[in-house]
Amino acid sequence: MSIQLADSKKVLVSPYCEVVNDTHSQLNPTVIKGRFAPSNLSEIVEVIKLAHSSKDRICIAGGRHAMGGQQFLRSGMLLDMAGMNKVLHFDEERGLLEVEGGIFWPDIIDFLKEKQKGKRSVWVISQKQTGANSLSIGGAVSANVHGRGLTRPPLVDDLEDITVVLSDGQTKICSRTENPELFSLVVGGYGLFGIIASATLRLVPRAVLQRTVEIVEAENVISRLEKRINNGAKYGDFQFAIDPTSPDFLNKGIMSTYAEVPNASVATEHRLLREDDWKDLLYLAHVDKTAAFEKYSNYYLSTNGQLYESDVFQLATYIDNYHKDLDGRIPRHKGTELITELYVPRPALGKFLKEAADLLRQHHADVIYGTVRLIKEDKISFLAWATQPWACTVLNIHVEHTKAGMTRAAKIFSDLIELAINSSGSYYLTYHKYASSQQVLACYPQMIQFFAAKRKYDPKGLFNSDWYEHHLDLLLENKLFSNKYI
Ligand SMILES: Cc1cc2nc3c(=O)[nH]c(=O)nc-3n(C[C@H](O)[C@H](O)[C@H](O)COP(=O)(O)OP(=O)(O)OC[C@H]3O[C@@H](n4cnc5c(N)ncnc54)[C@H](O)[C@@H]3O)c2cc1C
Repeated sequence: MSIQLADSKKVLVSPYCEVVNDTHSQLNPTVIKGRFAPSNLSEIVEVIKLAHSSKDRICIAGGRHAMGGQQFLRSGMLLDMAGMNKVLHFDEERGLLEVEGGIFWPDIIDFLKEKQKGKRSVWVISQKQTGANSLSIGGAVSANVHGRGLTRPPLVDDLEDITVVLSDGQTKICSRTENPELFSLVVGGYGLFGIIASATLRLVPRAVLQRTVEIVEAENVISRLEKRINNGAKYGDFQFAIDPTSPDFLNKGIMSTYAEVPNASVATEHRLLREDDWKDLLYLAHVDKTAAFEKYSNYYLSTNGQLYESDVFQLATYIDNYHKDLDGRIPRHKGTELITELYVPRPALGKFLKEAADLLRQHHADVIYGTVRLIKEDKISFLAWATQPWACTVLNIHVEHTKAGMTRAAKIFSDLIELAINSSGSYYLTYHKYASSQQVLACYPQMIQFFAAKRKYDPKGLFNSDWYEHHLDLLLENKLFSNKYI
């Protein structure tokens, strides 16, 4: 079966029930009804018409890295944005780049490099997520992501405008001045208000950055980072030790920051970690956590003073499906990692990390990686997570894919959120669904108005996801919504 559209292009790539899953945790296997991959705006509109006529609902997927079921819907029509990956317009005067919603970051970086080859001043992206590359612009806008910037708000700050296809097939340009309400709802709105066909990114001039590395203890991280910011550091983080049997656990870490060096150029030969080094580090992080931290910190210390291009250094090495290899090397090992991100006011970070270390020890949690970053307040997006200048703690925790493993994970992730709330903090919605209704509402009290706005813009609930269904059920439990669907 396939559908022919008006312009004779096929967008139905899979007419069958298919099992899809997220890339990293692989904890969201979902049977969808069919997969559609439009390659332009009019094909998106055709898919919307088709969904209305068959009374189906649409879920939207980019790089599939969200881990709370935001991009999938049981029995839904999956709109796969992979075919919408073109650069549409580059305004070299103003440093604006319009790209389609399905494009991944490396393609943007490559385009800008190629297009500006040989030029002295060059426009580049300001920030992208760390830890992975195959992430789409639509996914980045929908989670309002952040990178390693020390003085920046999330991605919303880097957006000039977005073009969104609504549930009635209308296309709207949204920005701070044009359809501002919709702009604030779509950015950080997890695909519930419409399809981001394109986005215009505000670029920044490329800088050469010098990395400074030191080993720091948790209680001094904020003051050290602030000192570095005052000395011109633009990017940076604190990557902490992960061995729960060591007093260094979540306490000692590598602080690396990056400050601009004017008129410098980057050497062609660099000290860097290759794919095999990453595989070894991942293996050690599972079987010998102290050795993993030592190897990693020695590498970082050896790169103190090294120069990087401000766009390229944001690219990560991510080995797809790396757990397959690990499970083969480690006896009786089966699982993946699940990420969580917790926010606390900066002065509370030292105490929070101490308490988190105790909690993780009590639960015998298997931490594979952890880092602290900074974020500046976001005053634009409706479902804002960066409601104040937080210290953001990211934890990548191994989860056994067994019933007991999942139950334990639910408890760990929910208890970590409670700890953050007790420190006047919050958590990031993009990673899992383990927050209780009380926790969701404590951290995102605007969720009720957000869902009310969803009904205003999408009354028939065309855009849907397992994440949305789950959160609707949580609100219904609290009698905050009287009926699930209009
Ligand atoms: C290893 C790893 C590292 C990460 N690092 C970071 C990080 O450093 N900083 C950070 O902020 N986040 C980080 N994340 C989270 C990640 O950035 C978000 O989950 C992001 O939304 C994933 O983008 P994606 O392209 O994979 O989108 P998907 O997972 O496919 O989709 C995510 C959401 O975006 C929606 N969506 C996707 N495309 C469109 C579109 N065109 N129109 C409308 N809606 C759309 C989907 O419906 C869904 O709600 C990381 C995740 C992983 C697994």
